[in-house]
Amino acid sequence: MTKAEKIKQTLKQTKEKRKLQTPKVFQLKLQNLSKTDLQTLERLFLEAKWFYNFIIADLKNRLNSKLEKLKEVEIKTPNGFEKRKLKVLGSQIKQGIIERIKNNLTALKKIKEKGLKAGKLNFKSDFKSIPLKQFGNTFEIDFKKKRIKIQGIRKWFRVLGLHQIPQNADIANAYLVKKPSGFYFYVVCYLWKEEVLKRIKQKQIPLPVGIDLGIKYQLTLTTGERFKWYIPETRRLKRLQKILARKEKGSRNYQKIKKLIQKEWEYIRNKRKDVINKVISYLKRFPFIAIQKDNIKGWHEGLFGKEVQNTGIGGITARLRNLATLIPVEFVPKYEPTTQICSKCGYRQKLELSQRIFECPKCGLKIDRDLNSAWNILKLGLKQLAKKNKALADRLMSALPVDCGEVTPVEWALPTMKREAPHL
Ligand SMILES: [Zn+2]
Repeated sequence: MTKAEKIKQTLKQTKEKRKLQTPKVFQLKLQNLSKTDLQTLERLFLEAKWFYNFIIADLKNRLNSKLEKLKEVEIKTPNGFEKRKLKVLGSQIKQGIIERIKNNLTALKKIKEKGLKAGKLNFKSDFKSIPLKQFGNTFEIDFKKKRIKIQGIRKWFRVLGLHQIPQNADIANAYLVKKPSGFYFYVVCYLWKEEVLKRIKQKQIPLPVGIDLGIKYQLTLTTGERFKWYIPETRRLKRLQKILARKEKGSRNYQKIKKLIQKEWEYIRNKRKDVINKVISYLKRFPFIAIQKDNIKGWHEGLFGKEVQNTGIGGITARLRNLATLIPVEFVPKYEPTTQICSKCGYRQKLELSQRIFECPKCGLKIDRDLNSAWNILKLGLKQLAKKNKALADRLMSALPVDCGEVTPVEWALPTMKREAPHL
């Protein structure tokens, strides 16, 4: 067999295997970094930035495969062009950066083909994540000594969090990420679906669920459960922003405060992410999820920008898309008027945003508006599922109460169960 054939075969095998697996990213923190370690890592990110910008500056001539052997690049400085040596940036990492540029270009092209406005790739003033594409080559992990190694850097780095990775996980690629709070190592792993599902099934709720995303309550489920949270910008952040405004731009103090602000933002983002994690781990327990393709961007631009941002709910559909590799998730089209239709008889009426209760003049159903919407979403989702997997849809349907409108609690105006995320 030739080398090319062998590669092709391995790729095919991996593809088959991936069908039985589900991706998961584990976050590890680099620990006990000495001053020299920090300098080396900063240098790595700096060189990655130089390399990236060097290519972007002249895509036509520079985007070719020989770039990974480059040992020196030219960068633009206030004093004109200067040469910079690439000392720590490994060839595989360069390859990864080249691939990232190519992927970005393809994405831009696709946007343009759709007739949408698309800019071009911009110079980066800060490089925040370095792709490490191949386990065993671009990076290594020593589970016993709890440390990792990055191509081009001789020293191994101690990391925190390796215990999260299951023993039989397939390690694919990784990212080295620079955050205000330190350096992180994100490992992309593939876990066996069967095992993950086995763990989930122990806690499974035997009902399909429809989810309505909202402003007043972030999530309303057909089970009657509601999730509500709000994580606004902190007072500390506002104070720091005020201080920054008084500092001289570019001064040492200015930089110091700016760093503190970035750190505070990271803290707020983490808190929001944490809530989403909790919600997702709860939703995992349902055998089927239906949700409407989010209109969150519309909310952003509309009246509710701040409210939506302060919950971080935007991340939820992306997470559900990921979850769809594990359990069936159906996304109902945005244009479906799920809030206007009676979930019991199908009668359609216009509802003002202030009307919290849906009252049907035809069948007399009185139901909380979000809950009504959640039921409509579930029904539509099951219909969609039936087109792909009739048996499963039928089975899920039979698990539902016969008449959703009458079996669900009577006190529609009140959330039947408020799941407040703790410590927020
Ligand atoms: Zn009705």
